[in-house]
Amino acid sequence: MYRTDYHTHTPLCRHAEGSPEDFVARALELGLHEYGISDHAPMPGDAFDDWRMRESDLPAYLKWIDAARTAARGTGLIIRAGLECDWLPGIEKWTVHLRSLYDWDYLIGSVHYLAPGWAFDDPALAGLFHTGTSEEDWRLYWRHYEAMASSGLFDIYGHIDLIRKWGRVPDEDWISLAEPALAAMKRGGGIMEINTAGLHTAAKTHYPHPALLARARQFGIPIQINSDAHAPETLSRDFETAARSAIQVGYTHTTLPDRSRRPLNDSLPETDA
Ligand code: ZN
Ligand code: FE
Ligand code: FE
Ligand code: ZN
Repeated sequence: MYRTDYHTHTPLCRHAEGSPEDFVARALELGLHEYGISDHAPMPGDAFDDWRMRESDLPAYLKWIDAARTAARGTGLIIRAGLECDWLPGIEKWTVHLRSLYDWDYLIGSVHYLAPGWAFDDPALAGLFHTGTSEEDWRLYWRHYEAMASSGLFDIYGHIDLIRKWGRVPDEDWISLAEPALAAMKRGGGIMEINTAGLHTAAKTHYPHPALLARARQFGIPIQINSDAHAPETLSRDFETAARSAIQVGYTHTTLPDRSRRPLNDSLPETDA
């Protein structure tokens, strides 16, 4: 199986650990074919929050990526350079600016903020609702996600139902709440990740939930499998679980940002199905 991990972090975001050499060593140990680095991108103003690199850290980030490339030299492991970008309404110009700073292999679009100052995945906000109710927060989340995907600015859609992180799901049919966002993801032309970090949260499944993954398959949204590793130990964690889920709902291959495809199961021929 062709194994890639395009969603990983570095210590520059101030909540991850590991050297480029450690990450590369782990990638080689796991037999990864490609290791993509996608740390939390700067936001306008260094005081935006304290869990991302500052814009002035960018040279250090590129040096980190270079060190990974040096460590991987001669091994066959391909290193990719990306960013995990935050979406908020009105951020488009900034995203275009981020894109221009380097010849990135890809940008991941993620929704962590329901509003400035309200990153709902922050443990300090667990159990609290920006709008006052869980249901309204869900609607707001999916509105943001839909706008993010519609922007067409992102190559990969990050942890699409991260809003499940604290284990709450609305009583109503929450899959249908996500459908406008799924339609936008299809239109936006990006790849949806199966993010295995969710398995280790109160969400208890990868993002997206298997039922949402099945719906995404019906929409024809391409996928790839990522760990969101914040340390070398969690690189490519639960890749097989995610691959099994994908095959179960009818996916036959993963897709890379250059649009090439890799069969999910070596015994399956590569198809357009
Ligand atoms: Zn992080
Ligand atoms: Fe994230
Ligand atoms: Fe991440
Ligand atoms: Zn993430």
